[in-house]
Amino acid sequence: MNIRKKYKRINKLKIKWFQTQLAHWFELNNRKFPWREGNCSKYQLIIAEVLLQRTKAETIATFFPFFIKQYPSWKSLSSVNKTKLKKDLKPIGLWKRRSDTLKRLSTAMAKRGGRFPRTRGEIEELPGVGQYIANAILMFCQDEPQPLLDMNMARVLERFFGQRQLADIRYDPYLQELSRRVLPKNHAKEFNWAILDFASLICKARKPLCLKCPLKIRCQYFDHDKGVVLVKRS
Ligand code: SF4
Repeated sequence: MNIRKKYKRINKLKIKWFQTQLAHWFELNNRKFPWREGNCSKYQLIIAEVLLQRTKAETIATFFPFFIKQYPSWKSLSSVNKTKLKKDLKPIGLWKRRSDTLKRLSTAMAKRGGRFPRTRGEIEELPGVGQYIANAILMFCQDEPQPLLDMNMARVLERFFGQRQLADIRYDPYLQELSRRVLPKNHAKEFNWAILDFASLICKARKPLCLKCPLKIRCQYFDHDKGVVLVKRS
């Protein structure tokens, strides 16, 4: 199916319904994490997003206060010895990759006095910043509604609205557009969190809890006759 036909199938009412159901579910089921408390600095929010990549939020939740205490600013992070940084990151895994990203990004940010560039193009030129972190920076630091599109968000959107076409979510035009369209402009941050919590607690990768799911009556992935999920790529 071409992209235009695919967009046509996703009407505004279905998006609105998805937003309403998910916002209601989130009100009752949201997870509490240190980076979701109102007093987090922009530095802390971006560090949390770097640490969260490819790692469970529950794992990062216990590690995050320690890390922020050790490294309270871009400057402190940029001046640490890389061996020490690797050792500190070891408990959450991927320490080589994370230490490299954090070291390079913090060095660039310390030189900039902690100020992020304004445009997406300039932000993506910062070392260690790809599409996901650039979106996080634009959303948390510049109040732009941007999707935190990772494999978890992709899974929920694909199951509910229909599948993407390309393997790499960063380049799939359908998923990129859809993830922007589902975000309510006035509370994008909370809605991103809602989708991520929903992906973790209900629309799980291996065994989604479809029978408990508030979205099932309009979900493409749910088999309405048999009451079980259809076997599709997730
Ligand atoms: S019905 Fe199942 S597959 Fe569809 S959104 Fe809910 S949990 Fe996910």
